[in-house]
Amino acid sequence: MELRDLPSVDSVLTSRTIRGLAEGYSRDLVVNLVRERIEEARGSVRSGGPPPTADEVADSVAVSLTHLDRVYPRPVINATGVIVHTNLGRAPLSLESLDGMLQASEGYTDLELDLEAGKRGSRQAHVAPLLKQLTGAEASLVVNNNAAAMLLGLSALARGKEVIVSRGEEVEIGGGFRIPDVLLQSGANLVEVGTTNRTYAEDYRAAITENTGGLLKVHASNFRVDGFVHAASVRELADIGDRHEIPVLHDVGSGCVLDTREFRLAHEPTPQDSIAEGASLVFFSGDKLLGGPQSGIVVGKPDLIRKLESHPLARALRIDKVSLAGLAATLLHYVKGEAIAKIPIWRMINTSVGELEDRAYHWQTIIGSRAAVEEGRSTIGGGSLPGETLETWVVSLDCEGVEGKSQGVIKRLRDNSTPIIGRIEGDQVVLDPRTVFLEEEDTLLRAVREALELPRY
Ligand SMILES: *Cc1c(COP(=O)(O)O)cnc(C)c1O
Repeated sequence: MELRDLPSVDSVLTSRTIRGLAEGYSRDLVVNLVRERIEEARGSVRSGGPPPTADEVADSVAVSLTHLDRVYPRPVINATGVIVHTNLGRAPLSLESLDGMLQASEGYTDLELDLEAGKRGSRQAHVAPLLKQLTGAEASLVVNNNAAAMLLGLSALARGKEVIVSRGEEVEIGGGFRIPDVLLQSGANLVEVGTTNRTYAEDYRAAITENTGGLLKVHASNFRVDGFVHAASVRELADIGDRHEIPVLHDVGSGCVLDTREFRLAHEPTPQDSIAEGASLVFFSGDKLLGGPQSGIVVGKPDLIRKLESHPLARALRIDKVSLAGLAATLLHYVKGEAIAKIPIWRMINTSVGELEDRAYHWQTIIGSRAAVEEGRSTIGGGSLPGETLETWVVSLDCEGVEGKSQGVIKRLRDNSTPIIGRIEGDQVVLDPRTVFLEEEDTLLRAVREALELPRY
């Protein structure tokens, strides 16, 4: 094949598909896309592929245009049973949080205006009293996410100083967030103490020098070490910190403020316990088990919080008004004692097994004989509560004899106009009702029947 067999830009532009589309889009955009596609085709012809026809290029431009024209990220239905699913955007928000976010973005707000005094105010002023109620900490600072909070905290307090960390807590959270790397970025020097499995308070004490800037404790969110293990408690570290006037920094990770044991889950450290046990600053995420929008929260001693606030990085890492509004509404649910009823992830965690069983049987009735109801396990996800699962009932789909079998079915569910994300177990597709909102059920069931090549109902 020859490069001169490639269609010309003009021949694509005059094709019927493109002429039909061009009205809705600027000519420049269409021409650019056509050029890009032809350029790509040139590459594949050079490596021996067949040249596309003008119509094929036009079709692929049409697909690109519809993709560009879509609001992104697109809503998907999460039937994986993973409650805080990082790839699916972590925590879905409460209606009140969404309301707050809409209000904050529709028009102007008092984001940094003190209405009473008629003077400039702080964007932190609205959430600070809520965080104080919730965690018992005197002061707080909300930033872009927990990674940002940690980077800011370490930069502001420990640049050029030593930070003591247990070897068992030099963890990787994922997405390149590794505790030793964050320390390096902040300009702090990592001092490792203890061993992978056992670190004692005495190890920290023995490592203190004139240049120690902090004792850092990190919750190993996403893995579990069992057996011959020991970690120093926050209280022990706080005692040492007090005696040597060194701040104790505690990254608790998921931002869980409810007692997970009441939901038959392992204990997850809470910011309020950490503050009560004497941590100087506690760091956590807003969009994991707190159930709010992406954000990072630091609570603790006012003098330390002031150092973070006045560090130049604070401006670079600050939270935007929309997330801040959503976070304030989420925090208010806790303060009002309505978190389990209002915050979607807690509603999902708290859904009874009986209700899930009923829903699974209802799905089965509509899907038909290819569906079976089985006991299953939902997971918390978001790199929190590793290995912890919740009893659930799932619907498994027998895909034998269906086009593409389970891979075909899962792909067709993903290609649905509202994509549906399930999982494959063995040769079956498995759907967990726990993470599917009631209002999504009808869409899901129609798409499942279609993916199984069953008639519409
Ligand atoms: C998730 C997590 C982080 C990172 O938080 P983001 O809000 O995702 O930036 C940091 N530390 C721990 C222990 C975590 O679990």
